[in-house]
Amino acid sequence: MRETEAVLAAKHAIEICNACRYCEGYCAVFPAMELQRDFTLADMGYLANLCHNCNGCYHACQFAPPHEYGINLPKHFAEVRLESYAQFAWPQPLARAFERNGVVVAAVMALAITFVLLAVTLLVTPDVVFRPHLGPGAFYAVVSWGAMASVAGATLLFSIAALSVGAIRFWCATRSELTGPVTWRAVRRAATDIVTLRYLGGAGEGCNDADASFSLARRHAHHALAGGFALCFAATSVATVFDHFLGWVAPYGWFSLPVVLGTLGGISMITGCAGLMRVKLITDPAPVSRRVLGGDWALLALLLAAAVTGLGVLALRETSAMGVVMALHLGVILALFVLLPYGKFVHGVYRGAALLKAAVERDRHRPVA
Ligand code: SF4
Ligand code: SF4
Repeated sequence: MRETEAVLAAKHAIEICNACRYCEGYCAVFPAMELQRDFTLADMGYLANLCHNCNGCYHACQFAPPHEYGINLPKHFAEVRLESYAQFAWPQPLARAFERNGVVVAAVMALAITFVLLAVTLLVTPDVVFRPHLGPGAFYAVVSWGAMASVAGATLLFSIAALSVGAIRFWCATRSELTGPVTWRAVRRAATDIVTLRYLGGAGEGCNDADASFSLARRHAHHALAGGFALCFAATSVATVFDHFLGWVAPYGWFSLPVVLGTLGGISMITGCAGLMRVKLITDPAPVSRRVLGGDWALLALLLAAAVTGLGVLALRETSAMGVVMALHLGVILALFVLLPYGKFVHGVYRGAALLKAAVERDRHRPVA
């Protein structure tokens, strides 16, 4: 990591924490920290991405502001995380997207929606867009399958490549002499931690969402959002198999597998976004960095828009509004794909890599039960 004010503040705080260790057991940061005596700037990128921002150590800390030490790990780490996203982004000129991420996300979403609406109105006549379409191939009357698949496929492939380069850069930059070869046991352990959101459970009581009291609301909302996203992905995958391998062309019946998965996924995503937005609104602002807020809100708004417009296409698919709602949905999905490596979504990738590194190091330096 570069030697910035945020990185130096995090390093100063973590050196005090390593002497104090009152908060060990709160999260993955403290066991990882305790394996070391000295900390490099790169260690700050690693520890910051292990922090899941539960605010527990802030509310427990006797050295938190107004104490002269001013220890505020959630705030320091949130800023270092943001800097790590920019530092490991690929290609580097696009790292500037993290500087005012909320504005960037809003602008890309507006551009993507405008692009799809313009393309639809230029490629098909208004009569086709504003007319109800029924039966197999109804969606493709407005936007052809070839156009949908080529734009979405090319964008998604680029974003996956950019995320992969970022993850490799993160891994190489934060690798230390403590990090050994990646074992299956470490992979299993990290995967379990990720899928179960183990650390968002704290010691069984959850995070300090609003104040010093504990709550599992954030964990539940996070599960609803991630689960909903997975269900929507499954719905799209099943529909692709139906359409291209079985010859069953969309749209499908209300009780077909893609529609049931997509409906449940959309409702779950809306519930998760609403829950996480509520947590943001009630959170004590003291351990929150204003620098990261725009990007956090922007990703939630984007995911919410994707779920709402997706359900809108389902609900209105037999009406004359389907063409416009589908163009809106495709615009939002295009923006989501474009922004995957340049917004808060990268948190999932770097946190996953940090949890894997932590599991590898624990595996090597402490016997695993
Ligand atoms: S956050 Fe405060 S109480 Fe917790 S380990 Fe660090 S210095 Fe100690
Ligand atoms: S805010 Fe929570 S996750 Fe982050 S270092 Fe403190 S206790 Fe750990």
